[in-house]
Amino acid sequence: MTEMFKNLIAGEWASAGNASRNINPSNTNDVVGEYAQGSVEQMNDAVAAAKAAFPAWSRSGPQERYEILKKASDEILARKEELGRLLSREEGKTLAEGIGEAGRAGQIFAFFAGECLRLSGEAIPSVRPGVGVEITREPVGIIGMITPWNFPIAIPAWKIAPALAYGNCVVIKPADLVPGSAWALVDIIQRAGLPKGVLNLVMGRGSVVGQALLQHKDVQAISFTGSVSTGRKVAEACIASSPMKKVQLEMGGKNPLVVLDDADLKIAVEAAVTGAYFSTGQRCTASSRLIVQAGIHDRFVEACIERLKGVVIDDALKSGTHIGPVVDQSQLDQDLKYIQIAKDEGGKLAWGGEVLTRETPGFYLQPALFTETTNAMRISREEVFGPVANVIRARDYEEALTLANDTEFGLSAGICTTSLKHATHFKRNSEAGMVMVNLATAGVDYHVPFGGRKGSSYGPREQGAYAKEMYTTVKTAYTLA
Ligand code: NAD
Repeated sequence: MTEMFKNLIAGEWASAGNASRNINPSNTNDVVGEYAQGSVEQMNDAVAAAKAAFPAWSRSGPQERYEILKKASDEILARKEELGRLLSREEGKTLAEGIGEAGRAGQIFAFFAGECLRLSGEAIPSVRPGVGVEITREPVGIIGMITPWNFPIAIPAWKIAPALAYGNCVVIKPADLVPGSAWALVDIIQRAGLPKGVLNLVMGRGSVVGQALLQHKDVQAISFTGSVSTGRKVAEACIASSPMKKVQLEMGGKNPLVVLDDADLKIAVEAAVTGAYFSTGQRCTASSRLIVQAGIHDRFVEACIERLKGVVIDDALKSGTHIGPVVDQSQLDQDLKYIQIAKDEGGKLAWGGEVLTRETPGFYLQPALFTETTNAMRISREEVFGPVANVIRARDYEEALTLANDTEFGLSAGICTTSLKHATHFKRNSEAGMVMVNLATAGVDYHVPFGGRKGSSYGPREQGAYAKEMYTTVKTAYTLA
C-alpha cells in the first residue's frame, strides 16, 4: 500500500479517512502519491491550533521570524531541482519551468525574511496640542488560504511567506488536484523551526474543507487564488460570516497582447508564443488574445505558425520538451470544447488543436491558434485556461487599445511596438493591473506587486512590500503627553 501524505495540524502529521490519488498528467500510469482528504473536523482542529498559537506568534520578534523564513528559503533553494521535478511530475509543466517555480518559492521566502526586519510605523504630531499619534501595523490574525493547481508551490509560497513574516497564523487548503508541492513546502517551513500550530495544512475538496475554512468564525481573513466563479463564492462567504472576513481574490484573465505594424516581428512572435502557450497556456496571465494590426497581421500569423512547428509537446520530465501536457482530462475536455466553440463561431483554426499521442498515456494537446476571430466571440471573452489563443485584427493603435480593454478581465496586458508614443499611451490607458511592453503578458518579478483590475482581482495586491496591505491591520494610537 502507498504511504499517505498527511495533513499538518498543530505541528503533527494527521492522517485522514480518505485519500486522493495524485496522478502524473504526462503518464497516467504514474501515481505521484496518495494525499489525505481532510474532513470538516480536521479543518476545525486546524483553525483551533492556529488560534492557540496566535498570541505567542503574533508577539514573536522580527529576528525569530527572519531566521525561520531564511532557513526555509535556504532549504527550498538547495532542493529546487528535486522540488521542481515533483512539481513537473504532478502538474505537467516542463522540468525547467518546475525548477524555475521552485526557485521562485525560495526567493519569495528570502524576500519576506528581509521584510520581517523592515516593518515600521509612523509617529506624527496630533492636530491637538500635547497629543501624539502613532500609526502601527499589527498582524490580522488567522489567515485561511485557498490555492489553485497551476502554480502549486509559488502561490502557496507568496501567500504563506508574508502572512508569517507579519505575525499571522495560517491554515492552507491547496488545490486537491495537485497537492504534492504544497505538502513539500509546508514540511520545509515547519522543520525550519516554526512553533506548533502557526502553520497548518488541510488538503481536500474545496466544497468540504474549503467551505469549512470560509465559514469558520475564528478565521479573520481569506486569501484566495482560483477561478472567478469560485472567487465569487469565497467573497460572498467572507461577507456573510460574522464578523466579516478580510478577503483577497486573484482570479482569471483574458490577457491581450497588442502587436502594432511597427513591432519587431521576432520579439512579437516570441512574446505571443511563449506568453500564450508555455506552461501549456495554464497561466492566469497567458496571452490568450492576440490583437494584431492589419499591416503586420499576415506576417505575424505566418511567423507564429513557423515558430509553433518547432515546439516540442511531450512528457514534462523529458529533456527537449517545450510544452508539457494539459493537467487532467477535465481541463483537456474544456480546451477541446472551446476549440469547437471557436470553429462553430466562424474562427479559422490556423494551427494545431488536435490531441496528440506520446510514448506514455497523458493529456497532450497541440497548441491551437485561431485567426479571423472577433472580440465578441466566446473564445475572446471567456478564459479557456489551456494552449489556445486567437488573433483579432485591428485597424490601428486606437482600435487595438479599445479591443484590449473590451473585456471583463484586467490582469495583464502587453504591447509590441517600437513607438515610444504608443508604448507610453498604452501603459497609461490599459485597464490591466500589469502592463508589459515588448514582453509576454506572463512572467513577472517576485519583489513587486502582482494583481489585476475588473473581474481579475479583488482586494489588496499580492507580493512585494505591498503584501503588507493584506497581512497587516493598521492601528492609530493617541497619547496625551
Ligand atoms: P478553482 O476556482 O476551481 O479552485 C481554486 C481553489 O478553490 C481550489 O483549491 C479548490 O479546491 C477551491 N474551491 C473550489 N470550490 C470551492 C468552494 N466552494 N469553497 C472553497 N474552496 C473551493 O480554480 P483552479 O481550477 O484550481 O485554478 C484555475 C483558475 O485559477 C483559473 O481561473 C486561473 O486564471 C486562476 N488563477 C489566477 C491567478 C492569479 O493570480 N490571478 C493565478 C493562478 C491561477
